[in-house]
Amino acid sequence: MTLDCSERLHAVMARIRTAEVQFQRPLGSVGLLAVSKTQSAATIATVAALGQRSFGENYLQETLIKITELYDLNLEWHFIGSIQANKTRDIAKRFDWVHSVDRLKIAERLNMHRPNGLPPLNICLQLKMGNEPNVKHGLDLVDLSLVAKKIASLPRIRLRGLMAISNSTSECANKREFFARVRKLHERLVSDGFRLDTLSMGMSNDLEAAIAEGSTLVRIGTAIFGQRF
Ligand SMILES: *Cc1c(COP(=O)(O)O)cnc(C)c1O
Repeated sequence: MTLDCSERLHAVMARIRTAEVQFQRPLGSVGLLAVSKTQSAATIATVAALGQRSFGENYLQETLIKITELYDLNLEWHFIGSIQANKTRDIAKRFDWVHSVDRLKIAERLNMHRPNGLPPLNICLQLKMGNEPNVKHGLDLVDLSLVAKKIASLPRIRLRGLMAISNSTSECANKREFFARVRKLHERLVSDGFRLDTLSMGMSNDLEAAIAEGSTLVRIGTAIFGQRF
């Protein structure tokens, strides 16, 4: 390892700020979600000590252990992995956000299991845009408005926005086109009256293209923690 997490975290924050300037986004309008899947609780604690508060995870069982271990740090936990219906109870109890809601049934179950003592669970709808062969999950676009409407009426859920994962192989211009399509769907929902404030898009290798097209939250793993093994 040539760089450590501290240097890499600062480099990522610099990339975000540079992209905000380059693409005329208000300074500080793009948040950073540190994707800590497969990383140890100790590594997460190191990054938290540098000021990073929000962490994204894909694998429920390993994350529940880490959440318990790091309870005292009061971190914000985002679930970003694919969701099986029998996992919604633990997700609703232990996470603050879920980015990967891809069907109504999952939102209904998260709503049902969200404890009354906690604020409503923040969710994003994960979209299936149609040209991401690497992405198996996602809501079909034809269902978007209807599902959004039904989800917006669930009392223990707060619909915050949309999430998408771009095709990992495409060129920057194609990426911008991809992210622009997601942004337009978001804008359409907002003009239909949904109160959305989150566009979760952009990862280590395409955060600039995502920020150019309106991302408000980039999900960064490798560029902070190094290659996953
Ligand atoms: C792993 C993962 C990321 C982070 O990807 P990197 O390329 O390591 O930055 C972001 N979003 C989702 C949904 C992921 O599964």
